[in-house]
Amino acid sequence: MAESAINREFKYRISKYLQGNLPTNCDTCGVCSAACPVHQAVPGFDPRRFIRLINLGYKDELLKNTAIWYCALCNTCTVACPQGVMFKQIMEVLQKIAIAEGYVKPSFFGELKKIEQECQAYRCEQIASRLIESNPELQKTKVR
Ligand code: SF4
Ligand code: SF4
Repeated sequence: MAESAINREFKYRISKYLQGNLPTNCDTCGVCSAACPVHQAVPGFDPRRFIRLINLGYKDELLKNTAIWYCALCNTCTVACPQGVMFKQIMEVLQKIAIAEGYVKPSFFGELKKIEQECQAYRCEQIASRLIESNPELQKTKVR
């Protein structure tokens, strides 16, 4: 990647909006990615990689990436992170900056609807499979 694509101030800009530990506290352990339900389902959605890109200054690469809109804002990553990095908040900040700086075109709202439907379908699948795990009797009924 060209040197001009690097924005070393980006991590400090994001940090201004956070209450709690900052992206620079990340030690790249990958616990957030392992815990994230969206990472399991959406190729290219990888919280550890996103944090790495922030810390290295790849602002454009991150904000252009439609994968950032797949975050379900469920907070699982934040709870799991051993370094206390507020990753769910970081995702919200990334989305706000992407809109404010024109990375998101109006036509993307149709795409967003599709993403939301896919996320919702995935959440329903997860809930159904957890319910079945905890109550095998449900396997005899049609959940979907
Ligand atoms: S769990 Fe926390 S420390 Fe580990 S990679 Fe994710 S953000 Fe970084
Ligand atoms: S808040 Fe977003 S990144 Fe964190 S676990 Fe949930 S879906 Fe994954």
